[in-house]
Amino acid sequence: MGSSRQSAHKKLIICDCMLGKLAKILRVLGYNVYYNPKAADDYLISLSRRHDAILLTRDKELSKLYERSIYVRDHEVNKQVIFVLRALKDIGVEPLTGVLEICPECGTPIVECDREYIKGNYHESTYCAYDVFYYCPNCGKVYWEGYQYKSLRKTIEEIKDNVNGLNA
Ligand SMILES: [Zn+2]
Repeated sequence: MGSSRQSAHKKLIICDCMLGKLAKILRVLGYNVYYNPKAADDYLISLSRRHDAILLTRDKELSKLYERSIYVRDHEVNKQVIFVLRALKDIGVEPLTGVLEICPECGTPIVECDREYIKGNYHESTYCAYDVFYYCPNCGKVYWEGYQYKSLRKTIEEIKDNVNGLNA
């Protein structure tokens, strides 16, 4: 928010094959992320160029082949997240959506789901325990605001505080 660099705004972020966990977390945070563990380096470069994307990579040599690469040095995913969020903030790249609005599995924005569908396809205790359900129109995965969701949201808030705090 508040970025004056309109062109950098809501760019596609491409993660290399070593950054699967990071890709999922970035999607949870609302970023538009491409991740395919089988994609070859050449393909990642050409895809990045075509979309004018940000390429995140653990491979220093690969990062030299594309000017908008961010080389991710850390092995540990929590450190990767903080490092990448700061780097994206510095170049004015913002999330596509709010937190927990994108399917972490495939990167498609999730939509609210009809409760009747849950009633027919899931255990009754799940149906009764939650008011709102979401599903991914691409891969069909269903989400609800259970314990995992809440702990995830807490983790995300902590990460965001950390990133903002370090930048203040
Ligand atoms: Zn999905």
